[in-house]
Amino acid sequence: MSEPILLSGYDAKRCARRIHNEWDPTIDKTEWVIPAGLQMRFDAGIAFETAVFTELKAALTEHRYVDLAGVRGKANAIAATVDAIERQVDVIIGGWLPDDPDGGRTGRPDLLLRTASGYVPGDVKGHKTFARRAKGTLTYSVLEDPASVLAVDGLGAETTARFDDYLQLAHYWRMLEALGSSATGSARGFIIGTDNVADLASSGRVLTWIDLAAPFFETYSRSRGAAKRSALERYDHEQGFRLKVARAAATEQPALVEPIFTDECESCPWLDHCRKIAGHDTASAQITSGRLSVREWAALGDAGIATVDDLADLDIGAGSFQAAYLPEVTHLKDPIGRLAVAVRRARMLRDGVAIERETTGPIGVPRADIEIDFDIEWDPDDHVYLWGALVHSKGAAPIYHSVVSWDPLDDAGAVALAEEFARWLRDQITTAEADGHSVLVYHYAHPEPSYLKRLLGEDEVADLLARFVDLLPIIRQHYFGLNGLGIKKVAPAFGFHWRDEDPGGLQSQLWLLEARAAVDELSRTVGQQRILAYNEDDVRATDAIRNGLE
Ligand code: SF4
Repeated sequence: MSEPILLSGYDAKRCARRIHNEWDPTIDKTEWVIPAGLQMRFDAGIAFETAVFTELKAALTEHRYVDLAGVRGKANAIAATVDAIERQVDVIIGGWLPDDPDGGRTGRPDLLLRTASGYVPGDVKGHKTFARRAKGTLTYSVLEDPASVLAVDGLGAETTARFDDYLQLAHYWRMLEALGSSATGSARGFIIGTDNVADLASSGRVLTWIDLAAPFFETYSRSRGAAKRSALERYDHEQGFRLKVARAAATEQPALVEPIFTDECESCPWLDHCRKIAGHDTASAQITSGRLSVREWAALGDAGIATVDDLADLDIGAGSFQAAYLPEVTHLKDPIGRLAVAVRRARMLRDGVAIERETTGPIGVPRADIEIDFDIEWDPDDHVYLWGALVHSKGAAPIYHSVVSWDPLDDAGAVALAEEFARWLRDQITTAEADGHSVLVYHYAHPEPSYLKRLLGEDEVADLLARFVDLLPIIRQHYFGLNGLGIKKVAPAFGFHWRDEDPGGLQSQLWLLEARAAVDELSRTVGQQRILAYNEDDVRATDAIRNGLE
């Protein structure tokens, strides 16, 4: 008998082509080496989940939970989960629900919680789950009493921004239903995220309840243009479609979906395969900033627009094109405006243009006698370990200055390092101004002032911030970028190039981890020098941009 098609809790939120690739027996399943940056994210997610499980267990008396995370083998884990459900254990950590072959589901919810009327699923996520909402009400529970639902006004669970969480919980909800163990009443679940609100719970950690049956999600509707649908409705649609995709793939029928490139591709094992079959010039693969949605690309594909050249040549005002395209994207607010931006990018790509000026005339950049370009690096624990500055004094070569800690920092250490940098910067300013020289400090985007404020207090650094100039808003006012307006995309257009072949904030975090872990002095020093050179290039890039704007 052939293998039953079972999709996981992640599949309904994943690219449908990925499902095809996984189930098509004619496609070679090649070994995927997880990129180091992605592995770092996975590791952080696992560490967070473990920490939450530990907190949860500490908050409950031992008889109220069972931790199955260490049970080896699927059959054993399922048996242990079913046993815990039959014993009515309040909290089941790391369980594995029995497969649901009729629904085509398999699934391992992080948590199962017993309520008065049955079980509900929960998951742990390394992101925030709610936000301030003037008219909102957050329903939540505390770890000590997870089944008691509390409410507070002025906050609200994230919806569209965390759609993937909803789909995953909907998957587990359907599995609990198939098992006959779901709670009665409205479909629901909860997420334990990184939100830390001391007024709600002594630990600051809460379970955020999410409603799987409420119509939160704006969706394309052929009959109504746009319709609001619930997470369960959206899940049933996405899961049902992916089951069809998997069944067609497994029986070697023609693929129901072709690759459409999205942000998900960057962390997908099938990227090389999809690039090969889609071709290098596929528009969705090449236009990576301001991406169109899968539905928009699919509608363009149906209208015969597949490559960058097709898109660059598209006359979006043509009646025949709009008649075919617009009915497919009725749920979007400004589909033609969105498409026009994509067409502009396709033309820039075809013509080899990275940024385009949107204005004419001189661009006013504030100038001073002493100019300091400034950039920071932070580690995976969000501690700033390097404060770098390039000081330009008239008539002298610029001097790079750094305040750095190569040892891992705790919160107090990060504050101390920030204080050291602030002292140095203040000294530069007061000395220069005492001599009658003006001083300005240039940075690109918000992290530099944000971290300074967060670490030392806004009032305490107000004198420094008064001299800061953010170049990004100036760039935004005057330029349009093929790949956005990040410093790595903009500086090359002003003639600046990083010495490192692979510059980037995430990469620098990896170099830092490697340098910290290096067992020999030489490797450690090489890693540290690479980071310092990268940071120095960042401040030199800021210098190149502001001087190029004149
Ligand atoms: S590379 Fe992209 S298009 Fe291909 S399967 Fe992965 S996510 Fe889908």
